[in-house]
Amino acid sequence: MLIIDHWLATAQRVASPNSDPRPDPSDISLIVLHCISLPPGEFGSDSINQLFTNSLNATEHPYFAKISHLKVSAHVLIRRDGTIVQYVPFHRRAWHAGISSFRGRPRCNDFSIGIELEGTEHMNFEEIQYLRLNNLLEGLLEAYPGLSQERIAAHSDVAPGRKRDPGPHFDWARLRIHWPR
Ligand SMILES: [Zn+2]
Repeated sequence: MLIIDHWLATAQRVASPNSDPRPDPSDISLIVLHCISLPPGEFGSDSINQLFTNSLNATEHPYFAKISHLKVSAHVLIRRDGTIVQYVPFHRRAWHAGISSFRGRPRCNDFSIGIELEGTEHMNFEEIQYLRLNNLLEGLLEAYPGLSQERIAAHSDVAPGRKRDPGPHFDWARLRIHWPR
């Protein structure tokens, strides 16, 4: 998957204001995998784009009222149909992991790329999502030498007790195919 100036060449772009410069722009050394659906368990609407661009309508759904004030983003979303949306260029810090640490190092947002899969913690992900995710990971591992297979974590790994995504239905074994290194 081609990356030009820290953007995926073929993804949809929905620029999120919820990002800022990384403390060290050259340190991109972790990938954090998440899942999200809005409202929970419903797929395909524009709500995730709206959440990440601070335009979610709090009156549209009771759940939206709880989260519409949040200032959050991820770098990339992979939808159920395989469509990829990018919100933040990879050299900037997206606001996805919250209070977190990886192997003792806090503030994962500083040095990580956040990837959201459209889905829930209670349901299998789609075949096409694994396909796209593997292509995306190949591209990222080529583009950013600080990344490696060993530096891919679940949100639940970096924020244990606080987060559970992407959850038990995410099949880690499927990430080991076609990797460049
Ligand atoms: Zn998450």
